[in-house]
Amino acid sequence: MPEYITPVIPAPLLVKLKGCKSLPSLPVIALKIIELARSPSAGTGDLAALIASDPSLSAKILAAPNSAFYGGGSYNSLQQAINRIGMDAALSLSLSFGLTRNSKQKDNGMCLDTFWKRSLISGMAVRELHKLLNLKFDVETTFLAAVLQDIGMLALNEIDPNIYGVIFHSARSHRQLASFEEREFGTCHIEVGYWLGNHWGLPEKYTHLILNSHILPKEIKAKEVQEENISQRVLALSGLLADPWVSANQEMAMTVAYQASQEYLSMNEQQFSHLLLHIQEKLPEVIKLFELSAPAQIDTFNLLQEAKQLLVERNLRMMQKLMLQQKEIDALRKNSEKLQEQLKKDPLTGIYNRQFTEQQLKKYFASMESIGNRIAVVFIDLDFFKNLNDQYGHALGDSALKAFATTLEQELSADCTAGRYGGEEFVVLMPDHSQDDALGFAKRLQEHLAATPLLSHHKEDIYISASMGLAMHFGQGFQQDSGNKNQCFDSADDLVQAADEAMYSAKRTGRNRITLYVGKDNYTNLSAANEIPS
Ligand code: GH3
Ligand code: MG
Ligand code: MG
Repeated sequence: MPEYITPVIPAPLLVKLKGCKSLPSLPVIALKIIELARSPSAGTGDLAALIASDPSLSAKILAAPNSAFYGGGSYNSLQQAINRIGMDAALSLSLSFGLTRNSKQKDNGMCLDTFWKRSLISGMAVRELHKLLNLKFDVETTFLAAVLQDIGMLALNEIDPNIYGVIFHSARSHRQLASFEEREFGTCHIEVGYWLGNHWGLPEKYTHLILNSHILPKEIKAKEVQEENISQRVLALSGLLADPWVSANQEMAMTVAYQASQEYLSMNEQQFSHLLLHIQEKLPEVIKLFELSAPAQIDTFNLLQEAKQLLVERNLRMMQKLMLQQKEIDALRKNSEKLQEQLKKDPLTGIYNRQFTEQQLKKYFASMESIGNRIAVVFIDLDFFKNLNDQYGHALGDSALKAFATTLEQELSADCTAGRYGGEEFVVLMPDHSQDDALGFAKRLQEHLAATPLLSHHKEDIYISASMGLAMHFGQGFQQDSGNKNQCFDSADDLVQAADEAMYSAKRTGRNRITLYVGKDNYTNLSAANEIPS
């Protein structure tokens, strides 16, 4: 059996329920029938004898199997009738008859006639679903649970008919009724019904079904015991199927019922419309059997068409809403990607910033195999940059930095990363490139800077040179062939540090040159200083 949460009824309401003298009660005969049904040795003979002691109930039970409820047939004795419909059905009928007979209409409360009609049509829906869909579940138990599912409403109506009358008449749907009850009483009728069922001594199989009669399709887990699962689906659908006959808003009730038939039992339109027709056809007889006023006939065909139309429109609206939401999400994502990209960039030059460059190098360092087990790092510091600022002003210095960054990117192949490391310091990462590749790049850059002015100022061409330090790092798996190729650092920071030291060596030895880190305090000058054009 699935797990149920035992409902907690607010204490003040519980006190009222326990003290209420006019709570719906089971007729003595029904209580005796419940007791009998619990005894495993009881047979239909015992039940017939019990029912015979109540003449009006006997008449109903005799009439029941002959009615459309059970498919007709002629039975003259109670024993025959009970044999025909079975013990469980006799129990459900005795209880339903007993209860409908017992409750009295109050001027200010809810409409009992409507209430019982909903209960009985729900019961009919259970039987019709059983027949129509060939479902395997305990139809008698579910029938009685359907008839009793809203019994808690009777109790709430007894406790405060003034409030309950208003709630009952103003709710536009059964679901809304339950939410109004929650607001006024702190609980809703299924929980009160569960309490009342226990109070009467109804077996658990009924009270648990009553407690779950509002269960939503998404709350029904497929892994639960199949039969119980189907009973719950059928029961939860049954009340909604009754609503088109009893609700003031037939169109809405039909729409809810039609959608629920798909969600709970995957019914198609044809099955749904057959179900409506069967209920409509048998309704007058059942209503007569229970001495209720006949509900208005509903136009099942047109109501169903309207329901379908409403659902199509609702789906369209949902789709439009979803599309709008998707657009907003896309825009937000783009914006966030843009922001993420901006976070990686240096605002002045537009190339990557130090933080991103360092992160990138750490990534390469951590997966050297993916970059051919080698990486070249070039540390670049512009020469005499302070002088440029002093001579031409800071704004021109800024423009020079931008122009240099552009040049840097032009000289670099797409698989390499250039970042601004500090003021006029830049770092270039060249994954899977040889020392010769790196030297080739550095030379091209050096030659470009020597041949092409970075800026012009009042027709004066401004050239800038750079000092560059080059360091290589090889992963463990690198195939050594010659020279410096076993250079290996402990961390990405050490690698940058080595390139930086090589750059300082270039500075010390005259600037505008390219120096290779060979080992601690061991550097090789790879290019002699060019003449810096003045
Ligand atoms: P060296 O050849 O030894 O590197 O000399 P240098 O003048 O380039 O080096 P130093 O470190 O003495 O000065 C760096 C200068 O770079 C000082 C600073 O004002 C300038 N600088 C740093 N960031 C910026 C910037 O964003 N804009 C401008 N215009 N100048 C900057
Ligand atoms: Mg400097
Ligand atoms: Mg400098």
